Amino acid sequence: MRHRFVFLGWAIAAVFAVAVLIGGSPWSAHGAEIPARQLFGHKAKAAALQAGAIGSYAKGCLAGGAMLPVNGPAWQAMRLSRNRNWGHPRLVTLVQRLARESQELDGWPGLLVGDLAQPRGGPMLTGHRSHQIGLDADIWLMPMPKRTLSRAEREKISAISMIKNPFSINEKHWKPGHVTLIRRAASYPEVARIFIHPAIKQALCKSDQAGSWLRKVRPWWGHHYHFHIRLKCPMGSPGCANQDPPPSGTGCGKPLEDWFARFRKPKPKKPVKPKPRRQLRMADLPQACRAVLAAADADTGVVLTAAPAERSAVKPAAMPPPMPKPQTAHSASPPPVPAKKPPVKASVGAPLPSAKPKPVARGARRVAPARTNPAPNLPWLNGLATPGPPLPTPKPR
Ligand SMILES: [Zn+2]
Repeated sequence: MRHRFVFLGWAIAAVFAVAVLIGGSPWSAHGAEIPARQLFGHKAKAAALQAGAIGSYAKGCLAGGAMLPVNGPAWQAMRLSRNRNWGHPRLVTLVQRLARESQELDGWPGLLVGDLAQPRGGPMLTGHRSHQIGLDADIWLMPMPKRTLSRAEREKISAISMIKNPFSINEKHWKPGHVTLIRRAASYPEVARIFIHPAIKQALCKSDQAGSWLRKVRPWWGHHYHFHIRLKCPMGSPGCANQDPPPSGTGCGKPLEDWFARFRKPKPKKPVKPKPRRQLRMADLPQACRAVLAAADADTGVVLTAAPAERSAVKPAAMPPPMPKPQTAHSASPPPVPAKKPPVKASVGAPLPSAKPKPVARGARRVAPARTNPAPNLPWLNGLATPGPPLPTPKPR
């Protein structure tokens, strides 16, 4: 009896050895066995290759990643233990630019930056399906405090949710400065989409800065602590797959109502257990991701800072003027929940010259001036409640 087991053992060993000879180690990237997130999740440094986004947002990797410095004049990176402050150099530059311009031109206190990507992109050990090719960035909606947070604080501090329930924003936290910040992010031509919770999108739609820029702002689950910026495939990334452009229009009326209808649907009594998602393997990712994984560690000299040369080279994007609001967008379909005051009018990013004061619609609630609505627990926000410049004109540098 025993010798049979011995034979079986040898047989398994032999098959294994042949497998290794043919296909490389079954544990290696070439064996297509190990979940790709294990391989990418443990790379501490970028691949020493020319920068390139490879594949699609939820199935790909990043060559030549750049690191967003953990501190900058107008940003602080959060959750440093995750080592996800990496991205395509274009993304890193854009985050720095948004931080700087929103601070200098709009008076935003600065950005708390959440996850970008891992040093070599790819699937992550926890969270996020996208963020794989270095073109996605999460920005907290909570403004940056004046002081530099310690590493420990950056792990511990929780982001503040901007919604009270799935249908309405929390005006204690949501300020007109948020509208300007998201509008500015959407104004950059390289930005493909911005994801935000439907209740926040609705607040943007109702704001006096509403305009065609809202087309890029797409409702999505979960994004009420942060907003998510997604860039288009940059030049020089032939292996990068763009998403279809967002549907035309601002997406303010019916599409939002559809989201709220979903939220209103009664939850099934017996919660349906979601099927565990299949882990991506190397074979699921573009071939070029093997080279990314195998490449030598890049010198961390790739670290980008807001270099003065770069500053003068980049002109702040012209902010698009708001569109006249369609009369019917919100009056035709009353919001599901007793409507709250529309977000406070005119403060940061005051109305553009073309924005005429809207007649108060029948049944609309009165708009409170911003300064009667201070946020006692967010002192750094109070400074925002003063009229800003007409909308930020690029300053010559
Ligand atoms: Zn996100």
